[in-house]
Amino acid sequence: MKKMTVKNIKAICFDFGNTLASNDALNLSGSIYAAREIFARCRIPWDARKYSVLSQRALKKAWQRQGRIFGDVPVRLLDSQKSGEVFVETFCAELLVLCGKKPSSADVRESAKAYYRGVAEASSLYPKTREVLGLLRSYFNLAIVSNNPVEYVTEPVRKLGLKGLFDAVIISGEEGPGINKPEKSIFSAALKKLRTRPDNTVMVGDSLTDDVAGARAAGLISVWINRTGEKAGKGAPRPDFEIKDIGEMLELFVR
Ligand SMILES: [Mg+2]
Repeated sequence: MKKMTVKNIKAICFDFGNTLASNDALNLSGSIYAAREIFARCRIPWDARKYSVLSQRALKKAWQRQGRIFGDVPVRLLDSQKSGEVFVETFCAELLVLCGKKPSSADVRESAKAYYRGVAEASSLYPKTREVLGLLRSYFNLAIVSNNPVEYVTEPVRKLGLKGLFDAVIISGEEGPGINKPEKSIFSAALKKLRTRPDNTVMVGDSLTDDVAGARAAGLISVWINRTGEKAGKGAPRPDFEIKDIGEMLELFVR
């Protein structure tokens, strides 16, 4: 791993999904909340097995529809917020149909709201994350830089009482179409809010293509958080640092 001077670092940006909190946990909770709402609307008693079978089918439809509409849109034009909404709304509409209801737009809207409540409710951070952020906070400005729709970041951050830890929260769903990692635009937005330069700003994330490649192209220092010990393939973007645990951020940047 390349040795570099880290003593002039001013700010650290964190990805949210799968870096600070598990995306799967957020979506699982969202889908359960939506299903409970939908079962109640269809007057079906709650049944975990039934939920499991039907939600798998609804999920598949949601992925397919999202892929059909947004799969070919280049990242520099992609509307992450819309894409997320299509996913959640398709999931809810499909589950309503599978439960025997012809869904009205109010059914879909209310079920989607339940989904987002579930996402917020599920928000728990990976172990040690809060403590590490708290310590880093006394040395650096911190930010969240996420490609998620707003509901996947804003509410969880509020619920977890993390707002005070971050100087800036940049969410592509809020910034608008095309402001997504790995595009330079989202990193520029972060640097502007943090009032730092690329060479004194760090980006930490689990995605080699979005977080690491994006940070490198924008001139930031990149940290790949590789919890599962994944082997980076040939030609994969190279991070400046690789960690398997957020606690290692302290060893890297606080001495
Ligand atoms: Mg991520």
